[in-house]
Amino acid sequence: MSKLIVQKYGGSSVANVKKINQVAERIVSYARKKNEIVVVVSAMGDTTNELISLAKEINPQPSEREMDMLISTGEQISSSLLAMALHKKNYDAISFTGSQVGIITDVYHTKARILNIETKRIKDELQKAKIVIIAGFQGLSTHQEITTLGRGGSDLSAVALACALGADVCEICTDVEGVYTADPRIVKEAKKISYITFDEMLELASRGAQVMHKRAVEVAKKFNIPLHVRSSFSKKEGTIIMKKTSYIEEPIVRGIAFTEDEAKITVCNLPDKPGVAALIFNELAQNRINVDMIVQNVSHRKITDISFTVPKTNLLKTIKVSKRIAERIGAEEVLIDEDVTKVSIVGVGMKSYHGVAASCFSVLAENKINIEMISTSEISISCILRKKDGKKALKALHKEFELDKIKSRS
Ligand code: ASP
Ligand code: MG
Repeated sequence: MSKLIVQKYGGSSVANVKKINQVAERIVSYARKKNEIVVVVSAMGDTTNELISLAKEINPQPSEREMDMLISTGEQISSSLLAMALHKKNYDAISFTGSQVGIITDVYHTKARILNIETKRIKDELQKAKIVIIAGFQGLSTHQEITTLGRGGSDLSAVALACALGADVCEICTDVEGVYTADPRIVKEAKKISYITFDEMLELASRGAQVMHKRAVEVAKKFNIPLHVRSSFSKKEGTIIMKKTSYIEEPIVRGIAFTEDEAKITVCNLPDKPGVAALIFNELAQNRINVDMIVQNVSHRKITDISFTVPKTNLLKTIKVSKRIAERIGAEEVLIDEDVTKVSIVGVGMKSYHGVAASCFSVLAENKINIEMISTSEISISCILRKKDGKKALKALHKEFELDKIKSRS
């Protein structure tokens, strides 16, 4: 039976002419089976980064509207080239920008959210038996401006399209074979995960795993669209992200995420009285700064410290805001520490096992690794460590929870 398939190809999968041709060949192998195919592409290789550096060379603080005008072009290049590659193979294909197919977003440039997708134009083309290729990462705002969805946003375009079109399959095709138990570049024993739940993937993605865009997983979860993360260049089965996996017993830990992209801020010696934390975090929120972990120390003589972590990309803004508040509430100083790493273990199995935190902390202790901050959710435990200890911690935890022993589908 023919299916409606949405496939997304990442930037490294369309980085050059040879790869674009290979991707075209892969698409053809699905088209031959009379499937309806909608392809979403990212910009070729490092294009988006190059465009951003170009802009900054001209103006270190470019207008966000012009930024979107610029960086949305990367995907227009790859989508049109892919259509040409398909034409060369005698397949009928047509490329579109996000605006052309009515991917409607809000008005926040460089971080727009999708509001609605008008599917008529896509459906019309599919009906003419065309392969429809859509530039990822972009849309048209309710003010008729071109917007982009935030870095890595093509995943989100694909998932949103799969949802709007009621696709049978949504494949995220990339340069790795799936989601791994840990970054295989750091842990060579890391294994490909066969099935993972939306919640676990969300935790991994928001704690540093880079395979999938967090907002894309959120949308997939909300509309219950299973995702298949797999290689662009092999037929091997990848990782299925779904609502519930069918294991009789879930593993305690499904995967471990690792990130060096966060910094720790400490506001020292602030008065320990009602309203102080609210003041700090309200102000950060108003500046659209995403705070992750928060720790308030035990107070001595009504004076305390509050530490929290933020993405390094928000660091300058955070320092400015924190110093301003510190002054206002009479805190002593603001310390900035960029030399930290966050390691997080994630697994739905944690809900039904006890002692997971104990094993996690014991392994770190055995390896003489000091934990500076801890945060937990129902299905995860994250620790902030010195940066130099991060990789060692990752390897030790991977071994402790026997992630090197799981079996992957091939
Ligand atoms: N090209 C955009 C980026 O590099 C979007 C994407 O790759 O998904 O962020
Ligand atoms: Mg990319």
